[in-house]
Amino acid sequence: SHELRTPLTSIQTHLEAMIDGVWEPSPERLNSVNEEVIRLSHLVNQLKNLAKYDNEKNKLQISEVDLKQLIKNIIYNNQSFAFEKNIKIEYYLEEIIAKVDKEKISQVIVNLISNAIRYTNCNCKTEGKIVIRLYKENDFIKINIKDNGIGIPKESLDYIFERFYRVDKSRCRNTGGTGVGLTICKSIIDLHKGKIEVKSEINEGSEFIITLPS
Ligand code: ADP
Repeated sequence: SHELRTPLTSIQTHLEAMIDGVWEPSPERLNSVNEEVIRLSHLVNQLKNLAKYDNEKNKLQISEVDLKQLIKNIIYNNQSFAFEKNIKIEYYLEEIIAKVDKEKISQVIVNLISNAIRYTNCNCKTEGKIVIRLYKENDFIKINIKDNGIGIPKESLDYIFERFYRVDKSRCRNTGGTGVGLTICKSIIDLHKGKIEVKSEINEGSEFIITLPS
């Protein structure tokens, strides 16, 4: 509730200041209130998703899914966001058909690719690069999403899958995130009896590794 309260209080304070005439309602101020509303609505959507995955009765809709095609489509849909930030996406995908919940696994890949784009190349010092791999290893299906972005500090690595956890709020204040995306990813991968791991070096980049039973 704290996460909802903070943006709500900020919206309320700003609106009251304008109603009371303390603040002239300039486009800039209205815009800043609107941004909080957008953030809040994004957060509520993610909470709705999270509640869905929290529910133990939540059943997976398992079907045979062409993972190569699924990942390729998600990459195509995200190309323009990567392009805007001058990030190159490379991918190496084996032909793998897996019995998974197509919609939920899509959401995991979308979240991880969006994060890789969001947390890469913010300072434009080096060219951004994201490498996505799909392959089999010892009867397990592996999906790796690796970026050369800002990285995650060691002391945060144990917490990033916790709900609402965000590394140093100031460094990602403008990225529009809510700290729920990775929690959703972990819930979905747990439901599939798989695992999700992360390796990261600050200022070098991050790699998220999904392992699924085949
Ligand atoms: P958010 O909505 O804040 O992105 P997530 O749950 O998706 O929330 O991620 C939690 C935190 O983990 C993020 O706030 C960010 O600090 C860190 N993080 C996630 N993915 C990456 C990445 N690829 N590179 C660097 N930091 C990341």
